[in-house]
Amino acid sequence: MSIQQGSAGGVPVLILKEGASQTKGRDAQKNNITAAKLIAEIVRSSLGPRGMDKMLVDTLGDVTITNDGATILKEIDVQHPAAKMMVEISKATDNEVGDGTTSVVVLAGALIEKAEELINKDVHPTIIVDGYRKSATKAIEVLNSIAQKIEGNEKAELARIARTSMQTKLVSKEAGDLADIVVTAATSVAEKTDTGYRLDIDDIKVEKKAGGSIRDTRLIKGIVLDKEVVHGGMPKRIENAKIALINSALEIEKTEFDAKININSPDQMKMFLEEENRMLKSMVDKIIASGANVVVCQKGMDDIAQHYLAKANILAVRRVKESDMSKMSRATGARVVNNLDDLTAKDLGSAELVEERKVETDKWVFVEGCKHPKSVTILIRGGSQRVVDEAERSVHDALMVSKDVLEKPAIVAGGGAPEAYAASKLREWASTLSGREQLAAEKFAEALEVIPLSLAENAGMDPIDTLTELRSKQSKGSKWTGVDARNAKIADMSKLDVVEPLAVKEQIIKSATEAASMILRIDDVIASSKSGG
Ligand code: ADP
Repeated sequence: MSIQQGSAGGVPVLILKEGASQTKGRDAQKNNITAAKLIAEIVRSSLGPRGMDKMLVDTLGDVTITNDGATILKEIDVQHPAAKMMVEISKATDNEVGDGTTSVVVLAGALIEKAEELINKDVHPTIIVDGYRKSATKAIEVLNSIAQKIEGNEKAELARIARTSMQTKLVSKEAGDLADIVVTAATSVAEKTDTGYRLDIDDIKVEKKAGGSIRDTRLIKGIVLDKEVVHGGMPKRIENAKIALINSALEIEKTEFDAKININSPDQMKMFLEEENRMLKSMVDKIIASGANVVVCQKGMDDIAQHYLAKANILAVRRVKESDMSKMSRATGARVVNNLDDLTAKDLGSAELVEERKVETDKWVFVEGCKHPKSVTILIRGGSQRVVDEAERSVHDALMVSKDVLEKPAIVAGGGAPEAYAASKLREWASTLSGREQLAAEKFAEALEVIPLSLAENAGMDPIDTLTELRSKQSKGSKWTGVDARNAKIADMSKLDVVEPLAVKEQIIKSATEAASMILRIDDVIASSKSGG
């Protein structure tokens, strides 16, 4: 059936292809609102330290167990366009600040749910969206006013923040040890700028291997390469390593086109092989001349070249990823050399020790004890693949919050304290607004309280009682009072060391408001037909 879009003088005007569907007005809105609320509902029970985990099974039967919002939503295959938008904001928050991926979806869901109540009372979505935007700005202002400035690279503060971000994950028991590792890694590669610090988290290589326990997770002042030493005759351990990084092949290049060489006698054959041998040896001689005792090569390495390197007691690794080459360069201070003729002692990097070690069934090369590494490695261990996977996600989140605070050194409490405080300030402010905007601001305040509410609910506390007590304590001036989900009571979060970057809280409010506004403004969904027909 084609869709009739209007009529001109009694003749129907068709503008959509056959098979396309259109939902308009209230129906479209209701549909989107329901989808968005459902997504929020899925992740809501996994918010906070007492949040439940989700077991996700993909089409191949692989199982992921996590309570990380972004991961849950990435794994479930959502169809509905509004639901997809919710998934997008979770991803965007992950990219932007790395944490708060569950909170942002829960908050967006609450904003939409509260807006629905107003829509049912005939408040136009545009008014709600405007009111929400103003409220978001106001809420961020309030958060800035209560945030505590910290010295950018203060390790103890950073560790508190990293610990809070990790406590909510599977690895909560070991969060303390991991937080220290993450913070040491982050502060050692952060660069000082005129205005503070800058941290590129790509400078921290995260390797994982199932086996051992999380307590065996280590920080390596250098790089771990998941490659083995290329030749059995080479040394497996080199102290005071002088490292050459080469991004061309240690092979005789094959021609692009098929070439035939006519060899008519054994002598010619011998000459041909000798020439090849001589070329490869001269390559290796250049490396030896530079003084290198370790070679890390991005490309292939001919057997003969390997033989000569082994004879010279040089440890070599081949086919290393380009990204690892640049990490090696930042860790050891070596320059990546393309043409062997250019290789000099100045281009070599250094490390106290380069050693091949067995990691479970694999052999990996550890480059460690670099002097001032601008790139380091965190090697995650844990009882099973699932544990190391979840630990890796936690480490990523913790690295991101460390980055957030290094770059914007201000923190607020966790446990729903800042959200509850901002809600009460918004209510005061709402009374200064006119009619319908006031309604929107009040709903925004209610939506913010979904964070402490859900934390309480997930901890098995009575949500309404908790919220009432929280409001009353906060109104007496204790801004850092929040939901102590671990002990199921209301408490001063700063004493519990539950703190979070201001940047994360700001991003959560901004992204959630943006997503809610986008979904609320839609009053027409036009879906083209799958068959194209
Ligand atoms: P997200 O993906 O949004 O970071 P989490 O499941 O990690 O979601 O939960 C984060 C929320 O849990 C934050 O509001 C944070 O303040 C809170 N939180 C973390 N640790 C605690 C704790 N020990 N007690 C109470 N709340 C906590």
